[in-house]
Amino acid sequence: MAHMQRDEKIVVIGAGIIGVCAANALADEGFAVEVIDPVVPGGPGQCSYGNAGGLSPGSCVPNSMPGILRQVPGMLLDPEGPIGLRLLDLPHALPWLMRFVLNSRRSRVERIADGMIELNRLTLDCYEPLVKEAGCADLILHHGQLFAYENPEGPEGSALSISMRRARGVRVEVLDAAQMRELEPAISADYRAGVFLPEQGQCRNPGRLVSSIAALAAAKGVTFTRASARALAMEQGRVRGVATETGVTPADRVVVAAGAFSGPFARAVGVRVPLISERGYHVTFPHARTGLRVNVNAAERKFVAAPMEGGLRLSGTVEFARPSAGPNWRRAEILISQARHMFPGADLRGAERWMGNRPGTPDSIPVIETAPGHDNVILAFGHGHQGLMGGSVTGRLVAELAAGRPTSIDISHFRSSRF
Ligand SMILES: Cc1cc2nc3c(=O)[nH]c(=O)nc-3n(C[C@H](O)[C@H](O)[C@H](O)COP(=O)(O)OP(=O)(O)OC[C@H]3O[C@@H](n4cnc5c(N)ncnc54)[C@H](O)[C@@H]3O)c2cc1C
Repeated sequence: MAHMQRDEKIVVIGAGIIGVCAANALADEGFAVEVIDPVVPGGPGQCSYGNAGGLSPGSCVPNSMPGILRQVPGMLLDPEGPIGLRLLDLPHALPWLMRFVLNSRRSRVERIADGMIELNRLTLDCYEPLVKEAGCADLILHHGQLFAYENPEGPEGSALSISMRRARGVRVEVLDAAQMRELEPAISADYRAGVFLPEQGQCRNPGRLVSSIAALAAAKGVTFTRASARALAMEQGRVRGVATETGVTPADRVVVAAGAFSGPFARAVGVRVPLISERGYHVTFPHARTGLRVNVNAAERKFVAAPMEGGLRLSGTVEFARPSAGPNWRRAEILISQARHMFPGADLRGAERWMGNRPGTPDSIPVIETAPGHDNVILAFGHGHQGLMGGSVTGRLVAELAAGRPTSIDISHFRSSRF
C-alpha cells in the first residue's frame, strides 16, 4: 500500500487504537514510523482493550444533552448509578464538569452531533479494508445496536436523540416488548421497549483488533519501542524528538496519541485541552452462554452488554478520580448486579474485572489537528466514549495531515481552539 518512501521519521506517542491506526496509515504513506508506549498494544493496560466494542457509524448523540444538569445530582447520589465521584476528587473534576454541563445547550448539542457523525460515519468503511489486510475480518459484525428500556415509555423520553439521529440519516426502529424479545430473546422480561439501530456494527474483541493492527504495522516496518515518553524534545522552539527514560528519540514529526495522558504533550506546544480520565469498568463472564447477538445499551442504567469472543461483557460507569487513585472495584460489582438483572439464570461465575481511562473532553469529541504554531506535531486524542469507532478514521486523517493532503472529512469540528 505504500505510495513512496519518504525521507521523514515520525514518532507516535501511544499504541492504543488511535496510535496503531495512525502508525499503520503513516507506514502506508511511506513514512518511517516508531511508536513509543510502555505497555503492549492491545493489552489490558489500554483503554482500547476493555471497551464495549461498539462501532457505530450513526453515533451522534453527545453525553451532555439538554436536561443533564437535572439528572447529574441523582446519578451522583445513587450508589448504583452510572457516575462515580468521591468528594475528595471533586476539585479535580469540577472545572471539567462545569464545561460538560455548558455543552448541553441545544445549539451546542446539534453542532457537536455534526462533528460526531462526521467522524463516525466512516468507521466501518475505514475498518473493513484494514481488518482484511490484518487478517482479522472475523472481528467485525454488523448486527446492529439495541437500546433496551425498562420503562415502556422510555423511547418517548428519548425523542430528541431519536430525532437527532434521523435528521442525520441514521435508521432508527422503535420496538415494543414483543418485537424486542423477538430480536433479542436473551434479555430479561423487565426490559419492555427498545430502540434498534440496524446499521451499527460491533467488534468481538477490541484488544485483538489493536494487536492485529499493530502486527500489520510492524510487518510494514513500523517499530514499537517499550518506553514512556516524558517530554517533547525541543530545539529553538521546534520539536525535534521525544524524550523517554532511555534518552531522546529523534523525530521529524510527532503524533500525540496517548489517550487520557496526552495533556502534557499538547501543553508543551501551547495547546490546552480540558482532558480528563473518565474511568470506565467492565466485567467479562467467560461462562455466560446467553445467546446475545447485538450490543445492548441499558438505556436507564447506562451500561452496555456485549457478546465478546471471551464471553459476555458488561461495561460502563463514568468515574472521575485523580489519575493516581487506584481502581474502585465497587464500580465493577455494580455491573455484576446489573448482569444478574438483565440475564437472570446466566452462569456468571469467574467474572474478570477491568478498569480503563477514557480520554474525555467536555464536548464528547476529540482533538485532531496539526498543532497551531507547530507544523510538525499532530494531536489525535480525546475520543472519550467513542475511540474504538474513531480509530480507523483518525488513523487515516493523521496520515493525510502528515502527507499535507486535504483530509477526507471536515476536521474543523476537532480543532483545539474551540476550548
Ligand atoms: C467501559 C468502556 C466502554 C467503551 N465502549 C466503547 C465502545 O463501545 N465504542 C467505542 O468506540 N469506544 C468505546 N470506549 C472508548 C474507547 O475505548 C476509547 O475512546 C479508546 O480506547 C481511546 O483510545 P486511545 O488510543 O486514545 O487511548 P488508549 O487505548 O488508552 O491508548 C493510549 C496509549 O497511550 C499510552 N501512553 C500514555 N502515556 C504515555 C506516555 N507518556 N508515553 C508513551 N505512551 C503513553 C498508554 O500506555 C496507552 O497504551 C469505551 C471505553 C470504556 C472505558
